[in-house]
Amino acid sequence: MEVVASLYEEPEHDVAALEWPALELIDVFKLFRSGPVETVALRGLDLRIERGEIVAVLGRSGSGKSTFLHLAAGLDTASAGEVRAFGQPLGQLDERELASYRARTVALVLQSDNLWPDLTARENVVVALRLAHQSNVARRADNALAMFGLDRRADHRVTALSGGEQQRVAIAAAAAREAPLVLADEPTGELDARNEEIVLDALGRLRAECGSTIVTVTHARRVAEAADRIVHVTDGRAFSGRV
Ligand code: ADP
Ligand code: MG
Repeated sequence: MEVVASLYEEPEHDVAALEWPALELIDVFKLFRSGPVETVALRGLDLRIERGEIVAVLGRSGSGKSTFLHLAAGLDTASAGEVRAFGQPLGQLDERELASYRARTVALVLQSDNLWPDLTARENVVVALRLAHQSNVARRADNALAMFGLDRRADHRVTALSGGEQQRVAIAAAAAREAPLVLADEPTGELDARNEEIVLDALGRLRAECGSTIVTVTHARRVAEAADRIVHVTDGRAFSGRV
């Protein structure tokens, strides 16, 4: 598993590794079959996302946005075509390597249910760090919680926090791990405008502090406006556009 581990550690002498885009999807198809019914969720999706970019993914319901994020997260595999993260074709990783990719390289931020509800904010960040086999867990967790203004909330169970605070805990967990790739699926979907602003600010800080590449599916105009670039997904294909 040198490949993902070395990407994660980004050895300074490895200039070539730094030139890999964060994500490349090359002519990717994804088909779902249930009984006689076949759905083509992605049909030849091509997309390249550079390191450190913040990309907003827009598109109608059913256009393939979540399917794309799941493939990029290593949660599912392409039916055809290639998905590469930091130069590594994910299709070449075995189960153990994929598990490591998911725990160390990727952070997922979903609309809700990102967290372990019975744990406190701090415990949630600590669990994410332990899954990623990181050291200095307590210090990293406290630093990340402070970075996102959650120090006074650290010992609260996450169910006692507001929706915006819960999303910030999920983002703090990504920051604590210094996750190179953050994939967010409508992270502000259930939030009001103020909390949307807070989450948006947290994603911007995550990039500033950790250099993370951030891909966020969104319907929110403000989230799209805050991105470097917009990608429209239509019928399982991707088109780049302006913000
Ligand atoms: P979006 O996130 O843009 O709303 P999705 O990626 O969730 O779209 O879905 C794209 C298409 O693939 C839809 O037609 C959806 O019904 C179908 N689909 C997604 N996941 C599955 C699945 N696990 N099994 C069958 N069909 C699926
Ligand atoms: Mg979706």
